[in-house]
Amino acid sequence: MTGKLAVVGLGPGDARYLTPEAAAALASAEALYGYAPYLQRVPVRQNQIRHASDNREEGQRAGAALAHAATGVNVAVVSGGDPGVFAMAAAVCEQIESGPDAWRALDLAIVPGVTAVLAVAASVGAPVGHDFCALSLSDNLKPWELVERRLDAAAGAGFVIALYNPVSRARPWQLGAAFARLRRHLPGPTPVVFGRAVGRPDERVTVTILEAADTIAADMATLVIVGSCATRVIARPGRPPLVYTPRSAQSVHP
Ligand code: SAH
Repeated sequence: MTGKLAVVGLGPGDARYLTPEAAAALASAEALYGYAPYLQRVPVRQNQIRHASDNREEGQRAGAALAHAATGVNVAVVSGGDPGVFAMAAAVCEQIESGPDAWRALDLAIVPGVTAVLAVAASVGAPVGHDFCALSLSDNLKPWELVERRLDAAAGAGFVIALYNPVSRARPWQLGAAFARLRRHLPGPTPVVFGRAVGRPDERVTVTILEAADTIAADMATLVIVGSCATRVIARPGRPPLVYTPRSAQSVHP
């Protein structure tokens, strides 16, 4: 009896961002697992069982979904954005590596989705048009010293930086500390984009500069893009500014 497990990316917002492959995986699943707000985005189907869980229970949720699939059931685990970016796909792999042999025999599909950095970038222009990296500011799963080292390395090497998980109720100071760290490497006028709930009705996107960037503009649903020293802002009459990073770089970041 071989079950199936699909780890499905829902994209950043409403159904416009759901790929046809993801929609098909959701439609054929007999059981759905996920963080409750993500499950709410999936259209209800008859005879489909739903297991909603808290955001912090990723490992447990992955294990429960694998155990369920191993009974011969077609199971889908859902993630916002892409399941491989700070989300369930790696949690499922961790459980497979340490779990029973039967879990390795499962038919496993990771179904990609539009990750937040791409949706936020597209809403303002092309800020990740050149080399960029993504960092989670959450220090739940790594020490803060490591975050600082990575910020130093990324800014020092001239990467545009996408900051996932910038703040939460339990992590109020990390974004301010990250901005302070980045100001050591980057000029004050470096463009900064705050993209909140992009692709949803309460979407709000603002563009500022590093020296003026205020953590008040960010919450749990916000992705922050900090430009490199090459990132530019083009003012437009009657339209929001365009933010972009040119496709070529001439020299090593100063
Ligand atoms: N797997 C997700 C990321 C999960 S981490 C993805 O690929 O997008 C959660 C973080 O993603 C949030 O704190 C926020 O930084 C970002 N995020 C998720 N959805 C977003 C959206 N619609 N708009 C802006 N940022 C979003």
